[in-house]
Amino acid sequence: MRTPQEYLTSLLAGIEPLQTLRLPLAEVNGCVLGEDVEALWALPSFANSAMDGYAVLAQDVSAATPQRPIRLHVLEDIPAGSWPSSTVIRGTAARIMTGAPVPAGADGIVRVEHTDGGMPEVVVHSPAGHHIRRIGEDIELGQIVLHQGQVMSARSIALAAAVGRATVRVHPHPRVAVISTGSELVEPGRPLAPGQISDVNGVMLDVCIRELGATVLRSSIIEDDAAHLAQALGRAADEVDLIITTGGVSVGAYDTVKEVLTSLGTVGFERIAMQPGMPQGFGTIGARATPIVTLPGNPVSALVSFEVFARQVIRKLQGHQSPQVSSGTLISGEEFNSPADKVQYVRARLEESSTLTAWPVGAQGSHILGGLAQADCLLIVPAEIELVSVGDTLEFIDFRRQSR
Ligand code: AMP
Ligand code: MG
Repeated sequence: MRTPQEYLTSLLAGIEPLQTLRLPLAEVNGCVLGEDVEALWALPSFANSAMDGYAVLAQDVSAATPQRPIRLHVLEDIPAGSWPSSTVIRGTAARIMTGAPVPAGADGIVRVEHTDGGMPEVVVHSPAGHHIRRIGEDIELGQIVLHQGQVMSARSIALAAAVGRATVRVHPHPRVAVISTGSELVEPGRPLAPGQISDVNGVMLDVCIRELGATVLRSSIIEDDAAHLAQALGRAADEVDLIITTGGVSVGAYDTVKEVLTSLGTVGFERIAMQPGMPQGFGTIGARATPIVTLPGNPVSALVSFEVFARQVIRKLQGHQSPQVSSGTLISGEEFNSPADKVQYVRARLEESSTLTAWPVGAQGSHILGGLAQADCLLIVPAEIELVSVGDTLEFIDFRRQSR
């Protein structure tokens, strides 16, 4: 059996990042940038005032006090968005607003609070401050402000907008189809006939995928029927960049995913040395060679395999350079056993003080959802470790990143 790491490596080798596209700034949050972004102009592109007040010759008002105020003639009013027409000379000033261009001659700004606010004469009772935002003090003309490979956020989008861009070239977010297979499944909220259960994986994965910025284009429940499943897979393969299925990949008589996909010859199935999540499948289907990841049906197995494999596939499609399985390390707060020769992913609660400590929560069966809902993380117990002791250091997958 291959290890999760070995399997992940081979899976990612079969995935190419999606072709870059030029997209509007409002649509690129979380996308990996596919170009360097150069400043089309300096920031600021003109010297402007950092205060509402009066643009002056600093020397004129250097001795101004409330007892000995200085009176200046106001040449003009300069709101933001206008351009000054006069030059400030000795004995004169221009009223100026925050962000408005500083007129020629002026080398200081007196805040409006330090004046009587007058027009066309102003009484100044304090010296000027500098309060002038210099050309290029933030960004220089032609400077590379964002680099290929970086992840776009509200902050970097703000900078792209400031330097004159309406669009940037990025790897788009993938469109994903989620197919829950199983004749026992019904939409959550529907009453259950005997033998039926609510489809948990559909909505769970929908949320996980959207949390990555990807789009769920299609989400469906398909019964264990080879013809129907083949049809659903064919349709999805034409429309999306990735198909994720759950269920039907173990050794049961109605494990239709395995049955349908094995016959195509482009999807491989194998057992991975991990718990939960042992049966996995990966390949491509359809004319567009759409990647497909088949996750096991038990919801906990599906979630663990999503974290360890499917999430990494989505990230690679998005143009991310490296997988991100572990969120770092923490300390175990409890002693517990772990199966031999398999990586175990243990649902656990986190306590954050001077150290980050984890406490396994609930029964660890892969159908147990009660404990899953209380879990903040998955502890990753390496295959060679059969007993975790209090104080041992473990890597983990942090679920809390989803609610941050
Ligand atoms: P399977 O891999 O199809 O044999 O499914 C394994 C177990 O997971 C069975 O108990 C299924 O009923 C359950 N299961 C499969 N798919 C889902 C789903 N979408 N939501 C909840 N439970 C599921
Ligand atoms: Mg099934």
